[in-house]
Amino acid sequence: MSNSRSVIVVGGGIVGLCTAHYLAREGFAVTLVERNAEGADSCAQGSAGYVSPSHVQPISSPGMVWQGLKWMTSSRSPFYIKPRLNLDLMRWGWLFARHCTPEHTQRAAPVLAQHCLESRKLIVELAAQTGNNFEFRTEGLFNLCKTQETLDKYSHGLAALANSVGVEARTLSAQETAALEPGVRMDIAGAIYFPIDAHLSPRKFMPALIALLKQQGVTFHWSTSVTGWKTSGGRITGVVTSAGELTADAFVLATGSWAPETLRGLDIALPMQAGKGYSLTIEQPRLKFTKSAILSERRVAMTPMGDTLRFGGTMEVSGHDDAVRPERIEQIIAAAQHYYPDIHAEDFAGVKPWFGYRPVSPDGMPYVGRFARHENLIAACGHAMLGITLAPITGHVVTELLAGKKPGVDLSLTNPDRFA
Ligand SMILES: Cc1cc2nc3c(=O)[nH]c(=O)nc-3n(C[C@H](O)[C@H](O)[C@H](O)COP(=O)(O)OP(=O)(O)OC[C@H]3O[C@@H](n4cnc5c(N)ncnc54)[C@H](O)[C@@H]3O)c2cc1C
Repeated sequence: MSNSRSVIVVGGGIVGLCTAHYLAREGFAVTLVERNAEGADSCAQGSAGYVSPSHVQPISSPGMVWQGLKWMTSSRSPFYIKPRLNLDLMRWGWLFARHCTPEHTQRAAPVLAQHCLESRKLIVELAAQTGNNFEFRTEGLFNLCKTQETLDKYSHGLAALANSVGVEARTLSAQETAALEPGVRMDIAGAIYFPIDAHLSPRKFMPALIALLKQQGVTFHWSTSVTGWKTSGGRITGVVTSAGELTADAFVLATGSWAPETLRGLDIALPMQAGKGYSLTIEQPRLKFTKSAILSERRVAMTPMGDTLRFGGTMEVSGHDDAVRPERIEQIIAAAQHYYPDIHAEDFAGVKPWFGYRPVSPDGMPYVGRFARHENLIAACGHAMLGITLAPITGHVVTELLAGKKPGVDLSLTNPDRFA
């Protein structure tokens, strides 16, 4: 379909790139504005690369308040909120606590499952379209459980929830798990296995998307920051950037954890915290894995990414603070050894820690939809641990909204004005 309307996508992370792709495919004239240079780091690059419909439980889940309070006492814990007097953080924390209920999980799980499953289909399409040059593998995902107690808890909790919303989850004994990953010794009681989950190499996915956008005729403004907005009569008319003003018919906010500060001047409150995570990539691993796995008790993710092996995790809510905390890196290495006895600390020798900032909303749901205050501004941010999984469906549904089509997925829980 040809469409003469123009759209500016602000932010060139995974969500901005996917959004630009679907908009250009629909015939929009697309301009992407990104403050970093082409090919620079972003939150997706060092991520675990999961395409994970298994993540049907929002991060604000029952028990998280108590668990979070316990974890807050230690900067070595998987989830750490650095206590500080900050009004935005206090409001976010209050909203987060209010959503840690079984009712919120029951509402959110079917919506997350629908978005994740539809997005996975779009990634299958993208892999076919690009010759799968980003190592997309449909091997499934384990939630490895060290103890029987955790296995029982996950079996009755996450696995039951996933199955209830159409995401298959199987509870496996240690022997059954080993049969599916025969090349590696695991010291576990068992696992939950999600056959529909998949993974990819984000460092290859992002350049593949940029190459696709170039073919599609998208205009890029790299190394260009959006610093303000031009408005008239309730509409956005342009963005003020470090390289001058740009105008368009519509605008997409895809600046991840920086979305609240990008909105400055528009009088829009968008509760969001940066959830810092770390990863370590072993370039030439001794052990060969086929499936990715979450080391459940330690909340660490392992991905066999192409020929490399990546371990990552931890959620540190401490603002955009670029300090690398060695104790967090030590926890990831210790977790790897705890579940895989043949992995040694020396395997990580010389590996440079990577970190990125997840954009975390207080209810664990992304912000996708039009802002009431400026109806030609669309939110596409706040995907927390699911930004890679959900980037394609987010771009797709943003395109449907701008093309005046009925959205193909349920947006009832993703309204960007829901906390206004
Ligand atoms: C350790 C770790 C593991 C993860 N594992 C997974 C996983 O396995 N699966 C999964 O689905 N997700 C995973 N995630 C989450 C996922 O990486 C993020 O949700 C996703 O990358 C967020 O993408 P984004 O495009 O919204 O934000 P970003 O990647 O942060 O992109 C936002 C972009 O906006 C730009 N920007 C900001 N402000 C401006 C401005 N004013 N003007 C112009 N540009 C601006 C920034 O430079 C940035 O490039 C993981 C995250 C971490 C940290």
